[in-house]
Amino acid sequence: MSQEAENLAAILARIDAARKGAIAPAPSTRLIAVSKTHGPERIRALLEAGHRVFGENRVQEAQGKWPALKCEFPDTELHLIGPLQTNKVRDAVALFDVIHTLDRPKLADALRAAERKPDLLIQVNTGEEPQKAGVAPLEAAGFIVATKGLPVKGLMCIPPAGIAPAPHFALLAKLAREHGLPWLSMGMSADFEIAIRFGATHVRVGSALFGERDYSASADTVLR
Ligand SMILES: *Cc1c(COP(=O)(O)O)cnc(C)c1O
Repeated sequence: MSQEAENLAAILARIDAARKGAIAPAPSTRLIAVSKTHGPERIRALLEAGHRVFGENRVQEAQGKWPALKCEFPDTELHLIGPLQTNKVRDAVALFDVIHTLDRPKLADALRAAERKPDLLIQVNTGEEPQKAGVAPLEAAGFIVATKGLPVKGLMCIPPAGIAPAPHFALLAKLAREHGLPWLSMGMSADFEIAIRFGATHVRVGSALFGERDYSASADTVLR
């Protein structure tokens, strides 16, 4: 078995255990394997192990490696978890099945005009960090109403680094509940089990599956 496949089995077991230990887990929790910075060979190891749900944070990087992999594994589901510029919307909707980072009216307008309509999540900046994308928690209600007519399925957050994430997961879950949104994208390698306790339907796990990322090879930054 490949190292990736071994890691996958371990993470799926931890997700299962966290769901069993949770008082009110979501009806299901999907693992999004975050493959940013990793090449097709590492991704293929997970595809060959049967995994089909992946996340990328840059449109351009995903365009470079996913069209060929999607041909080989057509039932793959690709999630955009990084910021989306309006001039990339056309490319993004062509490639991605779910976009987690809807966060401003201009982007909502561009998505409304797009031909293909992937499922959407609204990113909420639960920590109100100036450097981070997402709508402020107090503006979330208004923005959810303003995106009516778009296929918005849920909310996504990236809690501030270095502090306990639980209050942020709780806030996101409360907002989703208040607005009848079924999906909650929250939890990464370090905290996905906590997110599951608060009802995560999608956890985004990168380094626990693939090991540490080597950013020296790309111009990327981790947004947390
Ligand atoms: C990179 C990234 C992740 C995965 O982070 P890990 O800590 O490696 O699991 C999750 N969500 C977003 C938005 C990311 O950019």
